Amino acid sequence: MAKRDFYEVLGVAKNASDDELKKAYRKLAMKYHPDRNPDNKQAEEKFKEAKEAYEVLSDSQKRGAYDRFGHAGVDPSAGGGGGGNAHFADAFGDIFGEIFGGGRGRGGGGPQVYRGADLRYGMEITLEQAAQGFDTEIRVPSWESCEVCDGSGAKPGTQAKTCGTCGGAGAVRMQQGFFSVQQTCPTCHGSGKVIPDPCTACDGVGRTKKNKTLQVKIPAGIDDGMRIRSSGNGEPGVNGGPPGDLYVEVRIKAHDIFQRENDDLHCELPISFTTAALGGDIQVPTLNGRAEITVPEGTQSGKTFRLRGKGIRGVRSSYPGDLYCHVTVETPVRLTDDQKAILQQFADSLNEGGSKHSPQSKSWTERVKSFFS
Ligand SMILES: [Zn+2]
Ligand SMILES: [Zn+2]
Repeated sequence: MAKRDFYEVLGVAKNASDDELKKAYRKLAMKYHPDRNPDNKQAEEKFKEAKEAYEVLSDSQKRGAYDRFGHAGVDPSAGGGGGGNAHFADAFGDIFGEIFGGGRGRGGGGPQVYRGADLRYGMEITLEQAAQGFDTEIRVPSWESCEVCDGSGAKPGTQAKTCGTCGGAGAVRMQQGFFSVQQTCPTCHGSGKVIPDPCTACDGVGRTKKNKTLQVKIPAGIDDGMRIRSSGNGEPGVNGGPPGDLYVEVRIKAHDIFQRENDDLHCELPISFTTAALGGDIQVPTLNGRAEITVPEGTQSGKTFRLRGKGIRGVRSSYPGDLYCHVTVETPVRLTDDQKAILQQFADSLNEGGSKHSPQSKSWTERVKSFFS
């Protein structure tokens, strides 16, 4: 059976004053009171209805909830059992507590415990260091128990007191409409204690920030942007919570010769146009020393030579990548008159031989011809 509107039940306006509510209720109660209406079921229902309406509307908090949420805001059965809306509010309280706490709050009584924040440490390394891996030391912030107050945060000779706002629970319940929302205590920030006379050495925090040296192992094959986690070396937790982690984030500096692409390396390989034409053995750099490649005669610009296994073996790879050398044929510059004369003579001899000496030009010329025809 649908419930009637409480204002309608009492026959008052939505903005009725407390006095008007009381008067209206008294009138209905007199009229439908069971003593005056023995064995009258209908009157009994009317009496109960008026009583319930008055109970809600005479309580400003319940009235506010009813105005906003209707019967669901004040109906005990809407909460799924338990006294009144306590159960409903608890379910929300926990969710809100987590949202407001921003960390892994510990529910139910006692100070709120939070995990410390993670720290990030940026490290710039060379490509060679990344390929081989290395051990290093870094200086990172650390927090130590304050020597002056022995970690209590209270001035020596004084003591922390139980927080009066939350009674030591670390959390308080705030009423928002008909919701009861649990929040970290604004006075003690969840610790459940207040320090009336803070230690001057640590400002009442109980610990001081120092630096410590940390051994870090950079694994061979690490790539740009990868992070190494140093567990437990972040900021300390709050109220005895676990510390956060430290992340060493690796940046690889640009290399003069090589560009890395995952496990492969690429480099440019300028060769003289005589070597390109006649062929020959040339030395190429690799990350671990020099290697030799044989350039066949008639090599063109843009040709790529692959050196298997001369790349980098990634952190999770079983094999190293390859090194790709990209050929650029270099045009000779600043020629002497004699050299120019020799080249001219050479060019004339090429012309006599026809297009067979320049296969790319030949195919290009043919494509241009067919384009215009
Ligand atoms: Zn101190
Ligand atoms: Zn408190």
